[in-house]
Amino acid sequence: MKICVIGSGYVGLITACGFSKLGHTVDCVDIDPKKTESINKGIPPIYESGLKELLGEVIGKKLNATTDLNKAVSSSEIVFISVGTPSREDGSIDLSYINKAFLDAVSASKSYKVIIVKSTVVPGTCDSLAKLAKEKLGKQDGKDFGLCMNPEFLREGKALEDFFNPDRIVIGSEDEKSRKKVLELYSSFKCPILNTDRKTAEMIKYASNSFLATKISFANEFGNLCKKMGIDVYEVMDGIGMDKRIGRSFLNAGIGYGGSCFPKDVKAIVHSFKENGIEPKLLNSAIEVNENQPLKIVDLAKKKLGSLNGKKITILGLAFKPDSDDIREAPSIKILNKLLSEGAKIMVYDPEAMLNIRKVFAARIEYAKTAQEALSYSDNVFVLTEWAQFRDEKLYSGKTVFDGRKVLKRKSGGKYEGICW
Ligand code: NAD
Repeated sequence: MKICVIGSGYVGLITACGFSKLGHTVDCVDIDPKKTESINKGIPPIYESGLKELLGEVIGKKLNATTDLNKAVSSSEIVFISVGTPSREDGSIDLSYINKAFLDAVSASKSYKVIIVKSTVVPGTCDSLAKLAKEKLGKQDGKDFGLCMNPEFLREGKALEDFFNPDRIVIGSEDEKSRKKVLELYSSFKCPILNTDRKTAEMIKYASNSFLATKISFANEFGNLCKKMGIDVYEVMDGIGMDKRIGRSFLNAGIGYGGSCFPKDVKAIVHSFKENGIEPKLLNSAIEVNENQPLKIVDLAKKKLGSLNGKKITILGLAFKPDSDDIREAPSIKILNKLLSEGAKIMVYDPEAMLNIRKVFAARIEYAKTAQEALSYSDNVFVLTEWAQFRDEKLYSGKTVFDGRKVLKRKSGGKYEGICW
């Protein structure tokens, strides 16, 4: 099929590369010419495991990047929209990017297209988009275009693996013609496919992320008690995770969740709860636990080292999770800001996130080229992202380690403190 993907960020570029690899012809569109130039040169603007190799294989053959939305849309049968849906001050999502991308796509369509929203949008958004097309362009949902919601569940760091082997595919549609087209597109995938209406598909994404975020905050809340009582919360979570009704994943206590999705998505659905007159007590608590969690590692350091004023600290790991360069809402940012406000001197290292963190902290901290260089800076080390290379015990001999992600298999005491164990 001929596919256009509008928005070539983490989700769009993976979607574009994934469908190209499956034999489709794909144009990926972005408003940022630097991104499209880089993609056309075979250089991914983001770090994601296996992406550079796959992009090199498909670019110029099955995949092309462009800023020309009109041309890309008009020559496609299917148009994905994967632009950002950032948070506003009040927690609600900013739909201006998606409204624009959608109206541009409908305007550029000279014939019927199936338009698929992959961006995360609050329930009712697709229905509002359909109304907008009618009001602004006189175009009819189900006749001039088919509009479907196909939420994205990929995990950054494992995005390609998740694209090719998803747990499930959710297709939210309101008409048979567009639903059939999306089903045809996904026909080679072996996972279950759930067909729903658009609103339900939109809600599935929020319920899914809210549940996962709550699981993390649950583990952290127990972790905070375990720390006080001298219990290793990882053993506790192993114990409860063996129960099939609970499962072990997303119960790793630490410095809390971050990234571009969980914080923003939980806040957005909380806003929807409130708009509908319901106080979401459980989700409010999940957010509160998460907001307090990163600073617990600074408290631990102050307890052990005394005042941090003028103390040198090494930070290993900045990305919100390993195998990613993404620092959006990463707990490391909160921790760095707190350490700076306490007067600490900081050198950081992350295998992939250095460029991104430099944009935030500039000359306020120092940057190492290797983990070894960062470790030679000070005797006090915070480990904030569980990159595989940081698991090497030999790195830390003689150092006082504050572990935010259970990177080392040690018990707290002496020169080692785990945040929840
Ligand atoms: P991103 O910020 O990495 O990418 C969005 C891209 O869209 C940017 O490159 C931006 O320049 C481009 N863009 C904005 N307006 C445009 C327009 N009118 N035309 C063309 N391009 C335009 O965002 P992302 O992380 O890929 O997330 C995209 C959406 O997917 C969000 O709604 C997010 O919540 C959702 N999502 C993200 C993930 C994830 O892990 N990143 C996972 C699932 C769902």
